[in-house]
Amino acid sequence: MAKKGAAITLWRRSTITMMIIIILGFGTVIARLVYLQVYQSEDLQKRAVEQQLHDTTVSAKRGNIYDCAGNVLAQSITAWDIVLAPAEFDDDDEEGRKVVAEGLSDILKIDKDDMLKKTHENSYYVMLKRKADAELKDKVLAFSNKIYEENKISGVIQLIENYKRYYTHDNFAASILGFVGSDNQGLDGIEYQYNEELNGNTGRIVIAQDAQNNPLPYQYEQKIEATDGYSLMLTIDENIQAIMEKYVRETIKEFKVSNRGCAIMMNVKKGAILGFACEESFNPNDPYTIKDKEKEKQIKELPEDKQDEAYSKALSAQWRNKGVSDTYVPGSVFKMITASAVLSEGKVKPDEKVFECDGAYVPYEGASAIPCWLSLGHGQQDIGTALCNSCNPAFMQMGNMLGREKFYEYFVAFGFGEKTGIDLPGESNSVFFNQAGEPAGMGLMDLAVASFGQNFKITPIQMVTACSAIANKGKLMQPYVVSQIIDSNGNVVKATEPTVKRQAISENVAAQICSFLETNAKSGGATNGYVAGYRIGGKTGTSQKIVDEDGNETKDYIASFCGIAPCDDPEIALLCYFDTPDPDINYYGSAVAGPCFRNIMTEVLPYLGIEKVYSDDELKQLEVSVGTYDNMEVAAAKKKVEETGLKPKVVGNGKTVIGQNPAAYSGIPKGGTVVLYTDEESRKTKVKVPDFRNCSLSDVNYLAATNDLNVCIVGSSMEDSQSYAKSQDIAPDTEVEPFTVVTVVFNQDNSIM
Ligand SMILES: [Zn+2]
Repeated sequence: MAKKGAAITLWRRSTITMMIIIILGFGTVIARLVYLQVYQSEDLQKRAVEQQLHDTTVSAKRGNIYDCAGNVLAQSITAWDIVLAPAEFDDDDEEGRKVVAEGLSDILKIDKDDMLKKTHENSYYVMLKRKADAELKDKVLAFSNKIYEENKISGVIQLIENYKRYYTHDNFAASILGFVGSDNQGLDGIEYQYNEELNGNTGRIVIAQDAQNNPLPYQYEQKIEATDGYSLMLTIDENIQAIMEKYVRETIKEFKVSNRGCAIMMNVKKGAILGFACEESFNPNDPYTIKDKEKEKQIKELPEDKQDEAYSKALSAQWRNKGVSDTYVPGSVFKMITASAVLSEGKVKPDEKVFECDGAYVPYEGASAIPCWLSLGHGQQDIGTALCNSCNPAFMQMGNMLGREKFYEYFVAFGFGEKTGIDLPGESNSVFFNQAGEPAGMGLMDLAVASFGQNFKITPIQMVTACSAIANKGKLMQPYVVSQIIDSNGNVVKATEPTVKRQAISENVAAQICSFLETNAKSGGATNGYVAGYRIGGKTGTSQKIVDEDGNETKDYIASFCGIAPCDDPEIALLCYFDTPDPDINYYGSAVAGPCFRNIMTEVLPYLGIEKVYSDDELKQLEVSVGTYDNMEVAAAKKKVEETGLKPKVVGNGKTVIGQNPAAYSGIPKGGTVVLYTDEESRKTKVKVPDFRNCSLSDVNYLAATNDLNVCIVGSSMEDSQSYAKSQDIAPDTEVEPFTVVTVVFNQDNSIM
C-alpha cells in the first residue's frame, strides 16, 4: 500500500523540508508550503505532479508593527495549513483511506463521511484546515507518524508553513492598526495603507517540465528566496493609547453615547500622532465579530433576508475610523480659528472691548436675530473674554469684521480646505458651503453661523491639526502615524521627517490665542478640562448633527473638547469627540468631553515627563505627605506636624503618640489636619462622611471642617465659581476615623456651547 522505498521514518524525513508555493484555485491567494514529506521512490518521482503546482511563488513574512518605544503591536507567527494529498494513495488502498479518514476526522473535527470522500479525490492538494496552531499541527504530525509506522502510509498528509497575523493586545488600537484578510493582505488601517511595505517581495520556484509538459519533481526546480516585509515603527505610544482608550470607553458608557467616540493626541511640534482612540471599534484579532453585543443580538432578531445587510453595515461601522472618516459640525471649538483670523487681520486689539452682546444679534440687515446661549447677554467684551464666554453674538461680529473671503482664507490656511494627508486610509475632506455666485461659496447667513462653528463640517483630524498649529507658534504640521520603515536587519529604510505645511497665523497671534485658551480652562467655559499644576488651554464644543449617517433629519448632538498643554510651551494637543450622547443625561461638550479630556491629560502629562508648575492658588491646595509620629512625645509630634504645613489635633490623655490619621506617607492638602491618638480609648471615635455632592467649593470646605474630615478637591480650578461637586470617593454616611481624606471631584455644571 504505502510508498515503496521509504527507508527512513517520517519524522526524520520531515526535517528535510522543501518549500513550494501554490497558487490556489482563485489565483491571488498565495501560501508558503513546506513539505514534510520529500523522500519518495523513483517511481513516484517520475509521476507528474498536478497542474496546480505549476506556477509557484513563495510569499514573504509580513513585517511587524511597533509602537514608538519598540513594543510589538502586530506580528506574523507561524501557522500550518493541513493538506491532504489523496493522489498519493495506491488506487486499491481502501483500508488506508479509511484509517486516514477516521483519524483526521477525529483530530480536525470533520465529518467522517466527508473526510472519506476527500481521500478519493484525484488531487495532491485538498485543503483540510488553514492556519492551524502548533498544538493541532503536532497532533496531525503524530498521527502521520503513527500511520507510517503501523500502516506504512506516507505522503498523504502534508503540513504547509503559513503565517498568521497576531496582534499583541486584543481590542487595542484597532482603528490605527487595521487588520488583514485570510491571505495576509492588509484590509484596513496601517495594514492597508502600508500593505506593500509590510508584505515584502515574494520569491519564485521554477518547476522544470518533462517532454509531455508535466512538471518534474522538486530536485529539478530552481528557487528564488522571498524577501521578508519591512517593519513599521509608529508614533503611537502604547501607554498613551491605553489611557486614551480607557477614558473614551468610560465616557461612552457614562453618557450612553450611541454612535461611538474618539480622541486624538498630537505632538504639536512634529505632527506625530501619540494616541488615536476610536471606540467602540473591533478586535484586530477577530475583526469580523460584531463587538457591540447588543447590536449583534438585534441583528439576529431581524428577518433572515435582512440579516446579511445589517451585519455588513454593523461591520463597516465598527471598522470606520471616525477620527479621519467622519465629518462633523465643530461648533464652538472652531471659535479659536475665527478669533485667530480676527487678530491676524488686525481688526481688533486683544484688550479692546468692542464685542457687544445683549442676548441676541442680527448679523445683517433683514436677517432674524440669532440668540446667545446666555439670554441676559454678556455685555461689552474683549476678544479673549468673548472666547471664554463662547458668545455667539460676539463671533458673528467677528465674522462681519472679516467678511466672507477672509474667513475662507483662514479656513484654508488652517488646513480645513483639504485632507490633512495623514497616512491612514479613508480620510474625508470638509464639507463647506456651496452657494453659487457667493464669495467663498457662502451667503451672509452662512458667514454668521460659520463664525461660531455651525453649518459646515470638518473631520476630527483636521480640527486637532489646526489646534496644534495654534499651539505650534502658528505652524501647521502634516499629521502622521508611521515614523520609521525598518528592514529585517533592523536598518531604517525610511524615516518620516516632520513637515511644516504653512505658517497659518503669526507666532504672536498664536501665543495670544493660547493664553485665551488657558484662561478659558482656568475660569471660563472649559474648566472641566482643567488639571491642577498644568497650564492647560481648551475650548468646548456642542453642535447639532442636523442629519444622521443615513441622511435623515436628527436632533442628535456632537460633544467635543479640544485643547493644548502646557500653554507656555505647548507639547500636545488633544481632541475628544463624542457622537450622540444621550440627551437625557447630558450632551454639552463641557460635561461630556471635558472630563474625558481632563482625565487623559492628568495621566498623560506626568507620563510625558512634563513637570507640574503650581500657581499660588494651587499651592494653597497642594498635597503634602504626612509624616510618622509613632512613639513621639506629644509636644514634639505637634511641632513636627506644624512644620509640614499641617494642623495637629491631639486626642486622648496619654503622653506619647500611639497612632495617627491620616496614615504616614499618605497625601493630604496643605493646611489639613492630622489626628494624633495618645490612648486606645481615643481611637474608637468615628465620624460620618456627609454628602458633598452638588455643593459648591466653599460649602464642601465648610462641611469638611464641621465634620472633622480632610478633603482633597480634584477636577476644577480654584478660580471657578460655577463648579459643583459631582462625586466623592467615600460614600455618604460611611463611618471613618476623624480627619480621613475624602476626595471630592468637581465638574462645571454649565451649558456653555
Ligand atoms: Zn453672549
